[in-house]
Amino acid sequence: CGIFAYLNYHVPRTRREILEVLIKGLHRLEYRGYDSAGVGIDGGNSKEWETNSKSIHLIKQSGKVKALDDEIHRQQDVDLDVEFDVHLGIAHTRWATHGAPSPVNSHPQRSDKNNEFIVIHNGIITNYKDLKKFLESKGYEFESETDTETIAKLLKYMYDNRESDITFATLVEQVTQQLEGAFVLVFKSVHYPGETVGSRRGGPLLIGVRSDHKLSTDHIPILYRSSGKDKKSCSTLPRLDQDTCLFPVAEKAVEYYFASDASAVIEHTNQVIFLEDDDIAAVSDGRLSIHRIKRTAGDHPARAIQTLQME
Ligand code: GLU
Repeated sequence: CGIFAYLNYHVPRTRREILEVLIKGLHRLEYRGYDSAGVGIDGGNSKEWETNSKSIHLIKQSGKVKALDDEIHRQQDVDLDVEFDVHLGIAHTRWATHGAPSPVNSHPQRSDKNNEFIVIHNGIITNYKDLKKFLESKGYEFESETDTETIAKLLKYMYDNRESDITFATLVEQVTQQLEGAFVLVFKSVHYPGETVGSRRGGPLLIGVRSDHKLSTDHIPILYRSSGKDKKSCSTLPRLDQDTCLFPVAEKAVEYYFASDASAVIEHTNQVIFLEDDDIAAVSDGRLSIHRIKRTAGDHPARAIQTLQME
């Protein structure tokens, strides 16, 4: 029932600091109600963050966020002093709708035993049975009773069957097009280290942005796929792929917070972007892009970076 993700891009943080940010974020969302909680972080214990980001470590627990925090500190193979120059951690409090509260049903849910793709989800996927049947026919074995696990596995299926190089944002876009119901989603993958994608339909998701450098813009233009016009309008910007240009929010070091609620980010930053239904927001190489699958009447051309009032 609560989503919180923290991405530090060239802002060195120890794993201890990253986990503290994640746990604190979950505590701020506790009032929304939940029955279990979990985090997904980079797994390795080497001195090189690039090496560490080749595996994902999941820690999940039923009950209170405090119980999850205790479980984190019981983990013997997690060196809390390892420093990450770039890292994405995702965290979740669950209000069970499909499957009883238990560690295996807690989020993040994963694509496979190697945790290639993980996802946190608020909401309900109403067509998950059909998707599950399809994936089972392709040999996927499910470990949880959640509707959410189908999303992680569908991502891996699409990735494994990709025809050419595909960006994380495009992959998520293809997956969300197949989902019915209500969802707020944030993804992490060993195939896209230091990147994240968030998406929403029928639930809240906002992005907090923090940098010691001045932010280079006060709005993020909305991008659409396969439009010659958009391609032209972002000709001076770096590209995510041939259809999508990237919009630099801050020059170098930047931190992003994805959350269900502003109360979870306000202690870190007052600069926030509220996403709208069917927005796909991606951070790649420290840059944020927001795009939509198709134009609809009344679409705003940009998402403003708003300044929250600090109390
Ligand atoms: N439907 C998902 C589940 O039961 C997500 C529930 C939630 O919003 O926390 O696992």
